[in-house]
Amino acid sequence: MQPVSDVIVVGGGLAGLTSAIHLSRAGLHVIVVEKHQFPRHKVCGEYISNEVLPYLQWLGADPAVLQPAQIDRVSISAVTGKMVETPLPMGGFGISRYALDQFLMEQAVNNGCELLEDTVTDIVFEHNRFIVSTADHGMLTARFVFGAYGKRAALDQQLDRSFLKERSPWLAIKGHYRGSFPDGLVALHNFRGGYCGVSKVENEIINICYLVSYDTFKQFKNIDTHRQEVLHRNKHLQQIFENSEPLFERPLTISQVSFAEKEKVDRHILMTGDTAGLIHPLCGNGMAMAIHSAKIASEQVLQFFEGNIPSRSILENNYTKAWKKEFGKRIGAGKILSALFRKDRLSAAVMKGLVLFPALLPVIIKQTHGRPLKVNS
Ligand SMILES: Cc1cc2nc3c(=O)[nH]c(=O)nc-3n(C[C@H](O)[C@H](O)[C@H](O)COP(=O)(O)OP(=O)(O)OC[C@H]3O[C@@H](n4cnc5c(N)ncnc54)[C@H](O)[C@@H]3O)c2cc1C
Repeated sequence: MQPVSDVIVVGGGLAGLTSAIHLSRAGLHVIVVEKHQFPRHKVCGEYISNEVLPYLQWLGADPAVLQPAQIDRVSISAVTGKMVETPLPMGGFGISRYALDQFLMEQAVNNGCELLEDTVTDIVFEHNRFIVSTADHGMLTARFVFGAYGKRAALDQQLDRSFLKERSPWLAIKGHYRGSFPDGLVALHNFRGGYCGVSKVENEIINICYLVSYDTFKQFKNIDTHRQEVLHRNKHLQQIFENSEPLFERPLTISQVSFAEKEKVDRHILMTGDTAGLIHPLCGNGMAMAIHSAKIASEQVLQFFEGNIPSRSILENNYTKAWKKEFGKRIGAGKILSALFRKDRLSAAVMKGLVLFPALLPVIIKQTHGRPLKVNS
């Protein structure tokens, strides 16, 4: 067995890599275990709120070097095609996960993090330390473990997490395209059973990513038929798909996307990113929340190592409280928003209201976003 590390981070996505950079920057010994090879595409709308920029810059990981697409407007259309457009209160940027995750991984490794390409199969806490079992590297030990392994993984089953008891009837589909789409815009188009986000990432590539309920999707033979018969009923989506060329051989898909409440600390593991909870993607804030939760958890652990937090239980309590305070309302607002757009009549009424009072939209968006992250200068 290797010597006891300070922190093992399970999962090298946004939450995992951000915390790895933060902790290693402060001199801790950090191992990141990621089961897939870098770089790779992920199912994600790839629009990130600017609220995380000050923090990423502070970490020395300014995504500006990747030349992301700048985004400052949002348009939303109802199933009927009725649309409203407004400036985004804080704005954001579009960058592929292919480029961003690779970039963050390189920053983490440059900071001295150890990166293991492996799958964590179990995590046990005993005698005040963690034993992390991996498929290929045997057992690793650490004083802290960050669970940053995403929305849903086999590990959740191994850890017997309670959110698995709830149904997760959502399917998500994503592709990159070439075509014409306005600069600076993120479009959220609703269709029966789901919504589709469209925006640019780097190199003028258009990301089209949608979430659909499995119950509506399963009535169709395949992705193409469903797209033509359901998504194309919204004229904006029809126009976008008919004028774009796919860059992937076939779209990426994930199933069983869960918006259920999750424990923020489970068996003493500090859960970050989607492993702690996922906001409805219609809000476009999941990545910012993943990065922000990693910041909160990292700060707590550093305070602990500096002797400012006297016990593990206080640290865990602090983290849970801070997570709920920061993200609880956003997740609630996301649930309400997605429910409003799910019902045809209700969504038509909402759109009517927004067309009459477009100034309401930025107010609603603010409920699902945070403020720019504060960093120590
Ligand atoms: C349809 C859809 C659209 C979205 N659009 C947006 C958007 O436009 N803007 C936005 O801000 N958010 C969006 N989100 C949310 C966003 O994608 C997530 O919140 C974000 O990816 C969370 O990052 P993470 O680091 O928590 O997880 P991930 O990025 O999923 O990383 C988890 C990592 O853990 C690894 N892993 C899993 N199990 C193991 C294991 N046992 N051992 C080792 N490694 C493991 C995985 O391979 C993965 O790399 C969207 C989500 C969906 C479903």
